[in-house]
Amino acid sequence: MNIYEDSDKRVPIKLDNPSIQRDYDKCILCGACKNICKFAQGVYGNYDHTKEAICINCGQCIAVCPTGALSEVKDYHKVIEKIKNDNYIVIFQTAPAVRVALGEHFNLEPGTFIEGKLVSALRKLGADYVFDTTFGADLTIMEEANELVSRIKENKNLPQFTSCCPAWVKFVELFHKELIPNLSTTRSPILMQGPIIKTYFANKMHLDPKKIINVAVAPCTAKKYEITRPQFKAVANYYNDGSLKDMDYIITTNELAMWLKEENIDFNSLEDSNYDDLLGSGSGSGYIFGNSGGVMEASVRCAYHILTGEDPKDKLLEFNDVRGVDGIKEATLNINNKTLKLAILSGTNNVNRLLKQIEENNLQYDFIEVMACPGGCISGGGQPRLEVPITNVIREKRIAGLYNKDKNLKIRSSYQNKDIIKLYEEFLKYPLSDISKSLLHTHYEDKSKLKQTIES
Ligand code: SF4
Ligand code: SF4
Ligand code: SF4
Repeated sequence: MNIYEDSDKRVPIKLDNPSIQRDYDKCILCGACKNICKFAQGVYGNYDHTKEAICINCGQCIAVCPTGALSEVKDYHKVIEKIKNDNYIVIFQTAPAVRVALGEHFNLEPGTFIEGKLVSALRKLGADYVFDTTFGADLTIMEEANELVSRIKENKNLPQFTSCCPAWVKFVELFHKELIPNLSTTRSPILMQGPIIKTYFANKMHLDPKKIINVAVAPCTAKKYEITRPQFKAVANYYNDGSLKDMDYIITTNELAMWLKEENIDFNSLEDSNYDDLLGSGSGSGYIFGNSGGVMEASVRCAYHILTGEDPKDKLLEFNDVRGVDGIKEATLNINNKTLKLAILSGTNNVNRLLKQIEENNLQYDFIEVMACPGGCISGGGQPRLEVPITNVIREKRIAGLYNKDKNLKIRSSYQNKDIIKLYEEFLKYPLSDISKSLLHTHYEDKSKLKQTIES
């Protein structure tokens, strides 16, 4: 197989790409994958596509492929093998965006909120525990908002860029190594929850961490790559055992739907079920993580509390300037007489556009959120694609599903989450403590040499 054949018409994809694969028999050389990779993501065209296959694993080429030639790499059969083996304790967590899209595979409207059925479905498939990644998202916010406040006070490494999208992080490492110091060191929610399950939860429940298999259901193909990053060794370091992984498997929303259909589970007739305790519930801030602007809104709710001691209200609970599907959004926020300048980007090529504007107009920003997928994780490469390409109408319905949930929750800010407060009291001590840094933070590497064929 020559993956570079016709690479002027389609993106070349390595055979060992952990996120995406191509069925060459289905490819009609339409060029849609090349175009989105080039114009929306700013990746294709920035390397020599006749010799190298550079990929940030975002899966947006899958989302536009009209024939289904491109799809996510499937890992759910590996999870089934672990479930069948009684030696293992298989623990699932579900990312926010899954619950407003999975229903589309079962003839429900985009945005239909199927959280309770999702939990039941995973129990039926054999999960020993089911947790919610909204909890990990709250933890990400606790660390990231404190990091932001500290950088603002020290006027250091600003603007702070979010780091919860692994495709965006890889984009920085490949194409903008000068921005590495500006990336938040905070891990993404799934990569936070993983180590907390194998340390805090395992210790409390007297479970052997070696027997735990951590699985996340996510909208994201890039997470499949993210869990292979060598930086994610917190559990191995904690127990001094190199065989332990922070996260074991990621399966997409689409894979879960395939699995449920293969098992003949009638999804729509499932009763609702609740997540398991301790790491099972997030605040409204945790839910909106799935939307572009959600990490920003969640972070400023928390940063506002850190800086003023007050609970956010009004605009901070409905921060409309940061919401919506536009690829570049801007907002300002006044806290304690300081005006924070914010930008929210989706589609990594929009970063190139903003950086150009910053340079040309000498602009200053304090905090910038970047998500690789348009509209955020709700349109990740592992989400349903019953319409190709996915429309903004579908995106907006999924987005509304998460904002509606946030609006109806009593606890809407991460620092108010009682389980998060307990986790810090019992285990982590405080945000940015030594143990928090060892389990909940990461570091980045300059990957620009991987694309040396461009310069040569
Ligand atoms: S996954 Fe993203 S970066 Fe990789 S080829 Fe597809 S669009 Fe390009
Ligand atoms: S979008 Fe799909 S069909 Fe079109 S060139 Fe790419 S892989 Fe082939
Ligand atoms: S925006 Fe979300 S779904 Fe898309 S690559 Fe980033 S983390 Fe994954």
